[in-house]
Amino acid sequence: MRIPLDRTSSQPIYLQIRDRISRMISSGALSPGEKLPSIRCLAQTTKVNKLTVIEAYGILEAEGLVEAKQGSGYFVSDAQPCTKPCTFAPDQKVIIPDANHPTFFDSYYTAIQAHSQPGIVDFSSGIPSPYGLEELQKIARRAVTKISDGLFNYDLPEGEATLRKQIAQMLLQRGLNVTPEQLIITNGSKQGLSLAVNYFVRSGDWVIVESPTYVGLLAILEKIGARVIGIPMTAGGMNLDLLEKYLHSHHPRLIYTMSTLHNPTGITTSQAHRQRLLDLAIQYQCPILEDNAYEGLHFDAVPPPIKALDQENLVVHLGTFSKTLMPGLRVGYMVVTGDPYQTLLEHKFFSDLHTSTVSQAIVSEYLASGHYRRHVSNLRSVHLHSRNVMLRALEEHFPPEASWTVPQGGLFLWITLPENLPMRDIRQQAFSQQVLISCGSLFFPGRQSYPATRACFSLEPQAIEYGIATLGKILKNHLKTA
Ligand code: PMP
Repeated sequence: MRIPLDRTSSQPIYLQIRDRISRMISSGALSPGEKLPSIRCLAQTTKVNKLTVIEAYGILEAEGLVEAKQGSGYFVSDAQPCTKPCTFAPDQKVIIPDANHPTFFDSYYTAIQAHSQPGIVDFSSGIPSPYGLEELQKIARRAVTKISDGLFNYDLPEGEATLRKQIAQMLLQRGLNVTPEQLIITNGSKQGLSLAVNYFVRSGDWVIVESPTYVGLLAILEKIGARVIGIPMTAGGMNLDLLEKYLHSHHPRLIYTMSTLHNPTGITTSQAHRQRLLDLAIQYQCPILEDNAYEGLHFDAVPPPIKALDQENLVVHLGTFSKTLMPGLRVGYMVVTGDPYQTLLEHKFFSDLHTSTVSQAIVSEYLASGHYRRHVSNLRSVHLHSRNVMLRALEEHFPPEASWTVPQGGLFLWITLPENLPMRDIRQQAFSQQVLISCGSLFFPGRQSYPATRACFSLEPQAIEYGIATLGKILKNHLKTA
């Protein structure tokens, strides 16, 4: 652990150490039960007297934040007396842009092309850790053998029956009770988004999105000429008071939401928030498109999807295996109940007949063999570790004016930066040092954003450390000259 100290400050050194460790605990960068560096070690790395460290640890212990264990050293307390309240409290400004300016195509291209550069640190993409290659090879071989009869044939547009049964079973464990007949296997959830938006929305219709939101959805809305209302996110999800106001005044055709592990903020809404959002949708008869692409990647338990509360066939729910297995498989699914099912199925058919039988067979084999559950569980521990590495690196290298969300899963932290930073220049400078970031504005309707960036944490610890240190230096230089 490195603790930057300001020796010119009037604040005594032991209090600076105490403050830094306390902040790391409350932000989640240090986890309950984690061992702190020994007194000798911390004294050496911070170049202070051992008594100074003893004094800092003593205060942290008195505050109940750390515990001394006889003969083993100091540990972060299991029971935290005070957890810092979430600092995510952005301006609650509703955004209605004249025109949308999504640059999804450009940013996607840049990221995919950058991956061929050796040593690139890509914070801008959203892909899981490349974990379990050997297992995939075995499973893919078995899957292809099992479906050998179907390999040279076309499939039904709704997808393979066994896979739909398995997904229904998986969703039941998440609290969503659906039948295989209410599922359509899609070519990634991106296809599900496209099908659903085209079903519900016509050019000129109003659509509610969270701001910030998923840039891929903004691109779809732009393409069909929808008019967008960006309702601000709060620490607890979309601002529902503002949502109600705009449901009343604009009669939108669709509400798009990511109730679990929202992209880009990582926020998961409570059961109460989900119920109130659905109640408003019922009151104003406005369908909800619930896109829970990151659902499987939670560290803590999450409430059942909004779709589980839906008695009126008002919610279409989307999921994907891109974030838990591999994006290249292109296997996602839609849960659709009631009238829209048949039309959406026909649209899927007209779009591409069906999703790849080979990809479906691989996902099905993962689910049948129990490897999927183990794989996702391992992925969660790998991601929890890398999230914590990123939180620590941010504490160490980023200017104190920056703040970030502490998501309980998913792939991203949402970092709010000080005002007046030239984000495009910063992105350029970072890229010249092999670090790729996305400008936060990408995630807002009309790119009307406060300064922010989304950082994907599913990278190797050394890459995270290098990338965050590099970015931190660039940001601090800009702030010095501002
Ligand atoms: N929804 C969200 C919120 C996403 O972040 C993504 C991918 N980044 C998608 C949908 C599309 O994912 P896929 O098509 O690979 O399932």
